[in-house]
Amino acid sequence: MKRILVTGGAGFLGSHLCDQLLARGNDVICLDNYFTGSKQNVIHLLDNPYFELLRHDITKPVYVEVDEVYNLACPASPIHYQYDAIKTIQTSVMGAINMLGLAKRTKAKVLQASTSEVYGDPYVHPQPEEYWGNVNPIGIRSCYDEGKRCAETLFFDYHRQNKVRIKVVRIFNTYGPRMHPNDGRVVSNFIVQALKGQDITIYGDGMQTRSFCYCDDLIAGLIAMMNTGDSVTGPINLGNPTEFTIKQLAELVIEMTGTKSGIIYKPAVSDDPMQRKPVIDKAKQVLNWEPRVQLREGLMRTIEYFDSILK
Ligand code: NAD
Ligand code: UDP
Repeated sequence: MKRILVTGGAGFLGSHLCDQLLARGNDVICLDNYFTGSKQNVIHLLDNPYFELLRHDITKPVYVEVDEVYNLACPASPIHYQYDAIKTIQTSVMGAINMLGLAKRTKAKVLQASTSEVYGDPYVHPQPEEYWGNVNPIGIRSCYDEGKRCAETLFFDYHRQNKVRIKVVRIFNTYGPRMHPNDGRVVSNFIVQALKGQDITIYGDGMQTRSFCYCDDLIAGLIAMMNTGDSVTGPINLGNPTEFTIKQLAELVIEMTGTKSGIIYKPAVSDDPMQRKPVIDKAKQVLNWEPRVQLREGLMRTIEYFDSILK
Protein backbone atom coordinates (compact mmCIF):
# COMPACT_ATOMS: atom_id res chain seq x y z
CA MET A 1 0.00 0.00 0.00
CA LYS A 2 1.40 3.40 -0.99
CA ARG A 3 0.91 6.48 1.16
CA ILE A 4 0.02 9.39 -1.09
CA LEU A 5 -0.31 13.10 -0.37
CA VAL A 6 -2.79 15.06 -2.49
CA THR A 7 -2.48 18.83 -2.02
CA GLY A 8 -5.64 20.68 -3.00
CA GLY A 9 -7.37 17.36 -2.32
CA ALA A 10 -10.66 18.97 -1.28
CA GLY A 11 -10.95 20.83 -4.57
CA PHE A 12 -12.69 19.81 -7.77
CA LEU A 13 -9.94 17.68 -9.35
CA GLY A 14 -8.24 16.80 -6.05
CA SER A 15 -11.37 15.18 -4.63
CA HIS A 16 -11.84 13.00 -7.73
CA LEU A 17 -8.17 12.04 -7.49
CA CYS A 18 -8.58 11.06 -3.81
CA ASP A 19 -11.57 8.86 -4.81
CA GLN A 20 -9.56 7.08 -7.50
CA LEU A 21 -6.41 6.61 -5.39
CA LEU A 22 -8.44 5.10 -2.54
CA ALA A 23 -10.33 2.85 -4.96
CA ARG A 24 -6.95 1.54 -6.12
CA GLY A 25 -6.01 0.53 -2.56
CA ASN A 26 -3.79 3.43 -1.50
CA ASP A 27 -3.53 5.33 1.77
CA VAL A 28 -4.40 8.97 1.03
CA ILE A 29 -3.63 12.18 2.90
CA CYS A 30 -5.71 15.05 1.57
CA LEU A 31 -4.20 18.47 2.35
CA ASP A 32 -6.21 21.65 1.77
CA ASN A 33 -6.71 25.14 3.18
CA TYR A 34 -10.30 25.23 1.81
CA PHE A 35 -9.77 28.46 -0.14
CA THR A 36 -11.75 27.18 -3.12
CA GLY A 37 -12.19 23.57 -2.03
CA SER A 38 -14.66 22.24 0.48
CA LYS A 39 -15.04 19.41 2.98
CA GLN A 40 -18.26 18.62 1.16
CA ASN A 41 -16.21 17.30 -1.78
CA VAL A 42 -14.59 14.61 0.39
CA ILE A 43 -17.23 14.11 3.09
CA HIS A 44 -18.08 10.68 1.65
CA LEU A 45 -14.47 9.59 2.32
CA LEU A 46 -14.29 10.56 6.00
CA ASP A 47 -15.30 7.11 7.26
CA ASN A 48 -12.56 5.42 5.22
CA PRO A 49 -9.67 4.50 7.60
CA TYR A 50 -7.20 4.95 4.72
CA PHE A 51 -8.22 8.58 4.21
CA GLU A 52 -6.90 11.50 6.28
CA LEU A 53 -7.81 15.16 6.00
CA LEU A 54 -5.18 17.75 6.86
CA ARG A 55 -6.07 21.46 7.07
CA HIS A 56 -2.85 23.11 5.97
CA ASP A 57 -1.55 25.83 3.69
CA ILE A 58 1.19 24.66 1.32
CA THR A 59 2.95 28.00 1.50
CA LYS A 60 4.13 26.60 4.88
CA PRO A 61 6.31 23.47 5.13
CA VAL A 62 4.61 20.21 6.00
CA TYR A 63 6.22 17.11 7.47
CA VAL A 64 4.61 13.81 6.48
CA GLU A 65 6.16 10.56 5.28
CA VAL A 66 4.81 9.63 1.87
CA ASP A 67 5.67 7.68 -1.29
CA GLU A 68 4.01 10.05 -3.77
CA VAL A 69 2.83 13.67 -3.85
CA TYR A 70 0.26 15.08 -6.25
CA ASN A 71 0.59 18.87 -6.01
CA LEU A 72 -2.78 20.32 -7.01
CA ALA A 73 -3.15 23.09 -4.42
CA CYS A 74 -3.75 26.39 -6.22
CA PRO A 75 -6.91 28.32 -7.08
CA ALA A 76 -7.61 27.60 -10.76
CA SER A 77 -10.45 29.90 -11.74
CA PRO A 78 -9.49 33.43 -12.90
CA ILE A 79 -11.85 35.16 -10.44
CA HIS A 80 -10.42 33.18 -7.54
CA TYR A 81 -6.74 33.37 -8.46
CA GLN A 82 -7.07 37.11 -9.10
CA TYR A 83 -8.85 37.69 -5.76
CA ASP A 84 -5.48 37.64 -3.94
CA ALA A 85 -2.87 37.62 -6.70
CA ILE A 86 0.12 37.71 -4.34
CA LYS A 87 -1.18 34.72 -2.41
CA THR A 88 -1.68 32.88 -5.72
CA ILE A 89 1.99 33.30 -6.65
CA GLN A 90 3.02 32.30 -3.13
CA THR A 91 0.92 29.16 -3.40
CA SER A 92 2.51 28.16 -6.71
CA VAL A 93 6.10 29.07 -5.85
CA MET A 94 6.37 28.44 -2.09
CA GLY A 95 4.04 25.47 -2.47
CA ALA A 96 6.32 23.97 -5.12
CA ILE A 97 9.43 24.57 -2.97
CA ASN A 98 7.76 22.96 0.05
CA MET A 99 6.49 19.94 -1.88
CA LEU A 100 9.83 19.48 -3.66
CA GLY A 101 11.63 19.73 -0.31
CA LEU A 102 9.30 17.10 1.08
CA ALA A 103 9.92 14.88 -1.94
CA LYS A 104 13.68 15.36 -1.60
CA ARG A 105 13.62 14.38 2.09
CA THR A 106 11.28 11.40 1.69
CA LYS A 107 12.48 10.38 -1.80
CA ALA A 108 8.85 10.50 -2.92
CA LYS A 109 7.80 11.01 -6.52
CA VAL A 110 6.14 14.40 -6.96
CA LEU A 111 3.66 15.42 -9.66
CA GLN A 112 2.95 19.05 -10.49
CA ALA A 113 -0.47 20.06 -11.82
CA SER A 114 0.74 22.65 -14.31
CA THR A 115 -1.50 24.26 -16.88
CA SER A 116 -2.09 25.19 -20.49
CA GLU A 117 -1.77 28.76 -19.20
CA VAL A 118 2.01 28.35 -19.45
CA TYR A 119 1.41 28.79 -23.22
CA GLY A 120 -0.32 32.13 -22.56
CA ASP A 121 -2.12 33.57 -25.61
CA PRO A 122 -0.37 31.20 -28.00
CA TYR A 123 1.15 31.97 -31.40
CA VAL A 124 1.50 28.25 -32.08
CA HIS A 125 -1.70 26.30 -32.57
CA PRO A 126 -2.37 23.59 -31.42
CA GLN A 127 0.09 23.67 -28.54
CA PRO A 128 2.86 21.04 -28.29
CA GLU A 129 5.00 20.72 -25.15
CA GLU A 130 7.98 22.21 -27.04
CA TYR A 131 6.26 25.60 -27.39
CA TRP A 132 7.58 28.10 -24.82
CA GLY A 133 4.47 30.22 -24.79
CA ASN A 134 3.45 33.85 -25.06
CA VAL A 135 2.76 35.04 -21.53
CA ASN A 136 2.30 38.59 -20.30
CA PRO A 137 4.50 38.85 -17.17
CA ILE A 138 2.67 41.87 -15.69
CA GLY A 139 -1.02 41.35 -16.46
CA ILE A 140 -3.92 40.26 -14.31
CA ARG A 141 -3.48 36.57 -15.23
CA SER A 142 0.28 36.64 -14.61
CA CYS A 143 0.00 35.68 -10.93
CA TYR A 144 -1.32 32.32 -12.08
CA ASP A 145 0.54 31.86 -15.38
CA GLU A 146 3.95 32.99 -14.16
CA GLY A 147 3.47 31.26 -10.81
CA LYS A 148 2.86 27.98 -12.62
CA ARG A 149 5.79 28.62 -14.99
CA CYS A 150 8.09 29.30 -12.04
CA ALA A 151 6.83 26.12 -10.37
CA GLU A 152 7.80 24.16 -13.50
CA THR A 153 11.27 25.76 -13.35
CA LEU A 154 11.61 24.72 -9.71
CA PHE A 155 10.54 21.16 -10.53
CA PHE A 156 13.21 20.83 -13.21
CA ASP A 157 15.90 22.49 -11.05
CA TYR A 158 15.18 20.15 -8.13
CA HIS A 159 15.33 17.26 -10.58
CA ARG A 160 18.67 18.36 -12.06
CA GLN A 161 20.24 19.53 -8.81
CA ASN A 162 18.80 17.11 -6.24
CA LYS A 163 17.67 14.16 -8.35
CA VAL A 164 14.08 14.57 -7.18
CA ARG A 165 11.74 12.29 -9.14
CA ILE A 166 9.41 14.75 -10.85
CA LYS A 167 6.35 14.50 -13.09
CA VAL A 168 4.96 17.65 -14.72
CA VAL A 169 1.61 17.63 -16.51
CA ARG A 170 0.04 20.60 -18.28
CA ILE A 171 -3.70 20.39 -17.79
CA PHE A 172 -6.04 21.94 -20.37
CA ASN A 173 -9.54 23.14 -19.36
CA THR A 174 -11.15 20.35 -17.36
CA TYR A 175 -14.72 20.29 -16.10
CA GLY A 176 -17.19 18.02 -14.33
CA PRO A 177 -19.19 17.37 -11.17
CA ARG A 178 -17.93 19.04 -7.94
CA MET A 179 -16.92 22.26 -9.65
CA HIS A 180 -18.18 24.92 -7.28
CA PRO A 181 -21.40 26.59 -8.54
CA ASN A 182 -19.65 29.96 -8.05
CA ASP A 183 -16.35 28.71 -9.44
CA GLY A 184 -16.50 31.27 -12.26
CA ARG A 185 -15.06 29.05 -14.99
CA VAL A 186 -16.98 28.83 -18.20
CA VAL A 187 -18.56 25.37 -18.05
CA SER A 188 -19.94 25.74 -14.53
CA ASN A 189 -21.01 29.34 -15.18
CA PHE A 190 -22.97 28.44 -18.32
CA ILE A 191 -24.64 25.39 -16.79
CA VAL A 192 -25.62 27.19 -13.58
CA GLN A 193 -26.94 30.17 -15.56
CA ALA A 194 -28.92 27.86 -17.86
CA LEU A 195 -30.43 25.87 -14.98
CA LYS A 196 -31.44 29.07 -13.18
CA GLY A 197 -32.94 30.53 -16.37
CA GLN A 198 -30.47 33.43 -16.30
CA ASP A 199 -28.82 34.83 -19.40
CA ILE A 200 -25.59 33.14 -20.40
CA THR A 201 -22.65 35.54 -20.18
CA ILE A 202 -20.12 35.39 -23.00
CA TYR A 203 -17.01 37.53 -22.46
CA GLY A 204 -15.96 39.07 -25.77
CA ASP A 205 -17.39 37.82 -29.08
CA GLY A 206 -17.40 34.15 -28.10
CA MET A 207 -15.08 33.21 -30.97
CA GLN A 208 -12.22 32.36 -28.57
CA THR A 209 -11.69 28.61 -28.33
CA ARG A 210 -11.05 26.07 -25.61
CA SER A 211 -10.75 22.28 -25.61
CA PHE A 212 -12.68 20.72 -22.74
CA CYS A 213 -11.62 17.54 -20.93
CA TYR A 214 -13.94 15.58 -18.64
CA CYS A 215 -12.59 15.12 -15.09
CA ASP A 216 -12.54 11.28 -15.09
CA ASP A 217 -10.31 11.27 -18.17
CA LEU A 218 -7.98 13.79 -16.63
CA ILE A 219 -7.63 11.84 -13.37
CA ALA A 220 -6.74 8.69 -15.33
CA GLY A 221 -4.01 10.72 -17.05
CA LEU A 222 -2.62 12.03 -13.75
CA ILE A 223 -2.37 8.52 -12.30
CA ALA A 224 -0.84 7.12 -15.50
CA MET A 225 1.78 9.88 -15.37
CA MET A 226 2.64 9.17 -11.73
CA ASN A 227 3.07 5.47 -12.56
CA THR A 228 5.69 6.05 -15.26
CA GLY A 229 9.34 5.20 -14.67
CA ASP A 230 11.78 7.76 -13.25
CA SER A 231 13.09 8.79 -16.68
CA VAL A 232 9.69 10.30 -17.54
CA THR A 233 9.56 13.84 -16.16
CA GLY A 234 7.26 15.56 -18.66
CA PRO A 235 6.08 18.13 -19.27
CA ILE A 236 3.18 16.26 -20.85
CA ASN A 237 -0.06 17.88 -22.03
CA LEU A 238 -3.28 16.36 -20.69
CA GLY A 239 -6.50 17.50 -22.29
CA ASN A 240 -9.14 16.74 -24.85
CA PRO A 241 -8.03 17.96 -28.28
CA THR A 242 -11.53 18.63 -29.63
CA GLU A 243 -11.76 22.41 -29.90
CA PHE A 244 -14.92 24.51 -29.48
CA THR A 245 -15.65 28.21 -29.56
CA ILE A 246 -17.14 29.60 -26.37
CA LYS A 247 -20.25 30.49 -28.41
CA GLN A 248 -20.61 26.84 -29.48
CA LEU A 249 -20.34 25.80 -25.84
CA ALA A 250 -23.07 28.29 -24.86
CA GLU A 251 -25.35 26.97 -27.62
CA LEU A 252 -24.74 23.36 -26.61
CA VAL A 253 -25.54 24.08 -22.96
CA ILE A 254 -28.75 25.89 -24.00
CA GLU A 255 -29.79 22.96 -26.19
CA MET A 256 -28.95 20.28 -23.62
CA THR A 257 -30.60 21.98 -20.65
CA GLY A 258 -33.65 23.08 -22.66
CA THR A 259 -33.40 26.44 -20.92
CA LYS A 260 -35.16 29.61 -22.02
CA SER A 261 -31.99 31.58 -21.21
CA GLY A 262 -30.58 33.86 -23.88
CA ILE A 263 -26.97 34.82 -24.50
CA ILE A 264 -25.59 38.21 -23.47
CA TYR A 265 -22.21 39.54 -24.52
CA LYS A 266 -19.98 41.23 -21.93
CA PRO A 267 -16.64 42.99 -22.48
CA ALA A 268 -13.73 40.67 -23.17
CA VAL A 269 -11.48 40.04 -20.18
CA SER A 270 -7.89 41.21 -20.31
CA ASP A 271 -5.27 38.80 -21.72
CA ASP A 272 -7.91 36.18 -22.51
CA PRO A 273 -6.17 33.54 -24.70
CA MET A 274 -7.85 33.43 -28.14
CA GLN A 275 -7.32 29.74 -28.81
CA ARG A 276 -6.31 26.64 -26.97
CA LYS A 277 -5.99 23.04 -28.05
CA PRO A 278 -3.46 20.50 -26.82
CA VAL A 279 -1.22 18.29 -28.91
CA ILE A 280 -1.51 15.02 -26.99
CA ASP A 281 0.88 12.81 -28.97
CA LYS A 282 3.22 12.51 -25.98
CA ALA A 283 0.41 11.48 -23.64
CA LYS A 284 -0.69 8.87 -26.18
CA GLN A 285 2.81 7.47 -26.68
CA VAL A 286 4.26 7.69 -23.18
CA LEU A 287 1.14 7.16 -21.05
CA ASN A 288 -0.97 5.20 -23.51
CA TRP A 289 -3.64 7.73 -22.56
CA GLU A 290 -6.27 9.61 -24.47
CA PRO A 291 -9.59 11.09 -23.41
CA ARG A 292 -12.69 8.91 -23.87
CA VAL A 293 -15.54 11.19 -22.80
CA GLN A 294 -16.63 13.65 -25.45
CA LEU A 295 -18.12 17.03 -24.61
CA ARG A 296 -21.80 16.14 -24.99
CA GLU A 297 -21.54 13.15 -22.64
CA GLY A 298 -19.41 14.99 -20.11
CA LEU A 299 -21.78 17.96 -20.15
CA MET A 300 -24.73 15.64 -19.58
CA ARG A 301 -23.12 14.25 -16.39
CA THR A 302 -22.16 17.75 -15.25
CA ILE A 303 -25.64 19.15 -15.90
CA GLU A 304 -27.13 16.27 -13.87
CA TYR A 305 -24.77 17.11 -11.01
CA PHE A 306 -25.60 20.82 -10.95
CA ASP A 307 -29.28 20.05 -11.32
CA SER A 308 -29.10 17.87 -8.19
CA ILE A 309 -27.25 20.42 -6.04
CA LEU A 310 -29.23 23.47 -7.16
CA LYS A 311 -32.60 21.90 -6.28
P1 NAD B 1 -9.97 23.99 -7.33
O1 NAD B 1 -9.94 25.46 -7.05
O2 NAD B 1 -11.27 23.28 -7.20
O3 NAD B 1 -8.89 23.23 -6.45
C1 NAD B 1 -7.76 23.83 -5.88
C2 NAD B 1 -7.65 23.36 -4.43
O4 NAD B 1 -6.44 23.89 -3.84
C3 NAD B 1 -8.80 23.85 -3.56
O5 NAD B 1 -9.30 22.80 -2.78
C4 NAD B 1 -8.16 24.94 -2.69
O6 NAD B 1 -8.82 25.12 -1.46
C5 NAD B 1 -6.76 24.41 -2.55
N1 NAD B 1 -5.75 25.44 -2.23
C6 NAD B 1 -5.58 26.64 -2.84
N2 NAD B 1 -4.56 27.29 -2.28
C7 NAD B 1 -4.05 26.47 -1.31
C8 NAD B 1 -2.98 26.59 -0.39
N3 NAD B 1 -2.21 27.68 -0.33
N4 NAD B 1 -2.75 25.56 0.47
C9 NAD B 1 -3.53 24.45 0.44
N5 NAD B 1 -4.57 24.29 -0.41
C10 NAD B 1 -4.81 25.29 -1.28
O7 NAD B 1 -9.40 23.83 -8.82
P2 NAD B 1 -9.13 22.52 -9.72
O8 NAD B 1 -9.75 22.78 -11.02
O9 NAD B 1 -9.47 21.30 -8.95
O10 NAD B 1 -7.55 22.62 -9.93
C11 NAD B 1 -6.64 21.75 -9.27
C12 NAD B 1 -5.24 22.00 -9.82
O11 NAD B 1 -5.21 21.69 -11.22
C13 NAD B 1 -4.76 23.43 -9.67
O12 NAD B 1 -3.38 23.43 -9.34
C14 NAD B 1 -4.95 24.02 -11.05
O13 NAD B 1 -4.05 25.05 -11.31
C15 NAD B 1 -4.68 22.80 -11.92
N6 NAD B 1 -5.35 22.96 -13.22
C16 NAD B 1 -6.71 22.78 -13.34
C17 NAD B 1 -7.31 22.96 -14.58
C18 NAD B 1 -8.79 22.77 -14.77
O14 NAD B 1 -9.27 23.06 -15.86
N7 NAD B 1 -9.55 22.28 -13.83
C19 NAD B 1 -6.54 23.35 -15.69
C20 NAD B 1 -5.18 23.53 -15.51
C21 NAD B 1 -4.58 23.32 -14.29
N1 UDP C 1 -15.97 32.87 -20.30
C1 UDP C 1 -17.16 33.42 -20.74
N2 UDP C 1 -18.18 33.53 -19.84
C2 UDP C 1 -18.08 33.12 -18.55
C3 UDP C 1 -16.86 32.57 -18.11
C4 UDP C 1 -15.82 32.47 -19.02
O1 UDP C 1 -17.31 33.79 -21.90
O2 UDP C 1 -19.08 33.25 -17.81
C5 UDP C 1 -14.88 32.71 -21.27
C6 UDP C 1 -13.54 33.30 -20.84
O3 UDP C 1 -13.45 34.67 -21.18
C7 UDP C 1 -12.56 32.43 -21.62
C8 UDP C 1 -13.26 31.07 -21.67
O4 UDP C 1 -14.64 31.33 -21.43
O5 UDP C 1 -12.43 32.92 -22.92
C9 UDP C 1 -12.74 30.07 -20.66
O6 UDP C 1 -12.73 30.71 -19.39
P1 UDP C 1 -12.37 29.95 -18.04
O7 UDP C 1 -12.34 30.98 -16.96
O8 UDP C 1 -13.25 28.78 -17.88
O9 UDP C 1 -10.92 29.34 -18.29
P2 UDP C 1 -9.55 29.90 -18.88
O10 UDP C 1 -9.75 31.28 -19.43
O11 UDP C 1 -8.61 29.90 -17.73
O12 UDP C 1 -9.21 28.93 -19.94
